[in-house]
This record gives sequence, structure tokens and C-alpha cells, in this order.
Amino acid sequence: MFVVGLTGGIASGKTTVSDLFASLGATVVDTDIGARAVVAPGQTGLDAIVRHFGKQILKPDGTLDRAALRQRVFDEPEQREWLESLLHPLIIDWARQRITEAAGPYVVLVIPLLVESGALRELLSRVLVVDVPEHVQVSRLQQRDGSSESAARAILRTQARRDQRLAIADDVIENTSEQAALRARVETLHQHYLSLAANVGDNA
Ligand code: ATP
Repeated sequence: MFVVGLTGGIASGKTTVSDLFASLGATVVDTDIGARAVVAPGQTGLDAIVRHFGKQILKPDGTLDRAALRQRVFDEPEQREWLESLLHPLIIDWARQRITEAAGPYVVLVIPLLVESGALRELLSRVLVVDVPEHVQVSRLQQRDGSSESAARAILRTQARRDQRLAIADDVIENTSEQAALRARVETLHQHYLSLAANVGDNA
């Protein structure tokens, strides 16, 4: 299967872009959904987290207390490493399974932190970066989430820089224009990916 990894900074427009690819017939797989699925009740990921951090990492209803977990790994980098080494292989397996089942002519695999974590690179045929200047990210965060400018800038500082993302891109979508131009750019890329995917099929 031909797999395009879609990444971009927070509020750059990954969901907007992946929705457009889905509307054209690509199969979209979102690793944020995978990251939640592998720690759902009954999953080995959640069992391992409870064994490691204790039952206080659960909410009364038995689901993972994400805020408590975030706090633990925020305070202790080695705990963050432990958690990532647990979750990354599980998310890779989850994504591999979705890719195997995919009906579309190709898959768009959404990986917000592709540059930061490096996980999942092995599954990708190509990397597509949704790119906007930082001031656009800040103003979209303010509009969409009601964030203050300083809170938005603080989130940006925890993420990879724009140039680091662009350095791994095979294709780039500049998401600063209006909806019609964005759609046209996605349609062009879709045609390109269809022909690349057909070549992969021919050579398989
Ligand atoms: P997150 O990183 O939080 O998951 P995202 O990268 O998926 O975000 P979106 O949610 O798609 O980003 O877009 C962020 C905000 O910017 C949304 O409110 C969306 O409607 C708006 N937006 C996206 N693309 C454009 C555009 N081309 N012009 C104006 N607004 C846009």
C-alpha cells in the first residue's frame, strides 16, 4: 500500500487537509485516534501503564486519567521515555493494521509529531507537510481554541520548528490561502499520489 505521512504543526490545518483527501477517496488513518485506542480499557497498553504507575493513574470509571499521566511524564523525562517506548510500537502495530485493511487507492497517515518522535517513518512512502507561518498558527489557535497569544506561543515552542518539518518533506501544502485554492492543491497532489500508488501496484 502506498502511504503518505501527513504532518504539520499545531493548528496548521492537518485535519482540514486530511478531510479534503478523504473526500477525494483516499483512506485517512489518524494516529491520534490510534494513540487513544491502544490505551483504551482492556488493551495491553493500559494494563502496562497501570502496572508501572499504579491504579491512581486511572479515573474512577477505569479509563486512563490523561491529565495525571501528562503531569507524571512532564515532571520526569525518564518516565516520558518509558511511556514512549511502550506506546510507539503499539501505535505502529495499530497503524499497520489499519493500512492493511484500507480500502482506498492509497493511505494518508496523519502523524502530528512525525519530526519530534520519528516513530512510524518506516511505514511511509512519502511525507507531506502542511506548512503555515507561526503567526498564522497563533492566530488560528486564538480563534479556534480561545488560547491567549502567550499560551499559543508556549505550545509552539514544545514542537519542532517549521524548518525541521520542511527538511523531511517530499511535498508541501502552503495552507495560507482560501478554501478553493487549498482544494485545488489537494486535488493536484491526489492525482500525483494516485499515479505513484498505481506504479507501486505495478511493481508489487
Ligand atoms: P491540531 O494540530 O490542533 O490537530 P490541525 O493541524 O488539524 O490542528 P485544523 O483543525 O485543520 O488544524 O485547522 C486549525 C484551524 O484553522 C481550524 O479552525 C480551521 O478551520 C482553520 N483553518 C484551516 N485551514 C484554513 C485556511 N486555509 N484558511 C483559514 N482557516 C483555516
